[in-house]
Amino acid sequence: MPKKMNKQLKIDSKKYIWYPFTQMQDYVAEDPLIIEEAKGCILKDIYGNEYIDGISSLWTNVHGHRKKKLDLAIKKQLDMIAHSTLLGLSNVPAIQCAKKLIQIAPKGLTRVFYSDNGSTSVEIALKMAFQYQQQAPHGDPHKTKFISMTNAYHGDTIGSVSVGGIDLFHAVYGPLLFDSFKAESPYCYRCAFGKSYLSCDFECLKQMEGLMKEHSHEVAALVIEPLVQGAAGILVQPPGYLKKIRELCARYNILMIADEVATGFGKTGKMFACEHEGVTPDIMALAKGISGGYLPLAATLTSEKIYQGFLGKYEEFRTFFHGHTYTGNPLACAAAIANIKIFEKEHVVENLAEKIEHLEKRLQPFTSLAHVGEVRQRGIMIGIELVADKDSKEEFPPEEKIGYKVIKEARKRGLIIRPLGNVIVLMPPLAVSIDEIDRLCEITYESIRMVTEL
Ligand SMILES: *Cc1c(COP(=O)(O)O)cnc(C)c1O
Repeated sequence: MPKKMNKQLKIDSKKYIWYPFTQMQDYVAEDPLIIEEAKGCILKDIYGNEYIDGISSLWTNVHGHRKKKLDLAIKKQLDMIAHSTLLGLSNVPAIQCAKKLIQIAPKGLTRVFYSDNGSTSVEIALKMAFQYQQQAPHGDPHKTKFISMTNAYHGDTIGSVSVGGIDLFHAVYGPLLFDSFKAESPYCYRCAFGKSYLSCDFECLKQMEGLMKEHSHEVAALVIEPLVQGAAGILVQPPGYLKKIRELCARYNILMIADEVATGFGKTGKMFACEHEGVTPDIMALAKGISGGYLPLAATLTSEKIYQGFLGKYEEFRTFFHGHTYTGNPLACAAAIANIKIFEKEHVVENLAEKIEHLEKRLQPFTSLAHVGEVRQRGIMIGIELVADKDSKEEFPPEEKIGYKVIKEARKRGLIIRPLGNVIVLMPPLAVSIDEIDRLCEITYESIRMVTEL
């Protein structure tokens, strides 16, 4: 792009947009980074500078940017139709995509309800669970509440914030939210019960069971990010935890909602996180990677039991009265179909094991850095928790903006990452190469060292 236009873009970037999760006072004081194109795992800004996409464009991109098969699928669909409504009509890609989703989903999930982002996919799951209890033959209208986890993130709409547990984002909206029972999440590095993993005998699960025992008569569903709490800073749950949660939900007749918005589509090393522990939830929320990181699409998958609870004569009003204008958008569904086909044809999940192992190896040296408290990894999801003091695990004060400083250093070296507080997150596209993993780790290591040690 010509120089003059670039300058104008920078000015307009600060003048017209209000950026998400961004302190605008800081944004307008700095030089904005404006992306113009990409190829594979490399992003390019308006000046032609290249950066590794170290967070897969916010956990969405799977097969790299400008993946031929994905580009073609969307172009082909564009020649047919861009959008028609799913309210009362159907469309070809929405049908084919739903079939594909059910084929790859944990066994027992049989129905697909579309929306267009992760927050709504969870919002829908909550409303479905609630309404199911109100009206289904096997429901119980006294069950109106939810169990959610501390440190949870399920999106930014009021319902999904209500079951969230990250005070920094959520506290201010307190008066707007509905109550939910909070179970302590297994953040083993900072155990809420002051125990250490294994000798703890799963104290957190005992608290969970206590909650369920006491409140099962009033609880409709539990909502959980299976295996990894993403936005909390990639908090990895210990093996066996998820399976036990599934068992407890069944025992206390509480529906299980699995929010796989972050973990779905290969990021944990299997297609879905639930597969690691042979778990089928009653309801599963999907978004982010569902369209390969191309277009906004989300899906809430349910078991046949949930679906059946909504059947009846129209005048019984058991209908699920919910639907967004762009529900089942044909372009987004065409992208999702192509995404799943690439997984199958290119054995993406199978080929991932080697990359995950390589990452593990390359991350080892990080633990000896003076201010790295813990390195957490599950599949291709990585969180590096920075601490002011390793022995006491004392946190860096927020005004030091330590995470922010690290990602700025990384940017100078050609890597785009994003911190979650004092946790540096790495989550490259599944298509990342071994060489790119090496560079990603080198730059991150150097950036942490620069900011915390020099
Ligand atoms: C990102 C995320 C969401 C919200 O998705 P949006 O598309 O940003 O609304 C919900 N749940 C989890 C686990 C997420 O990581």
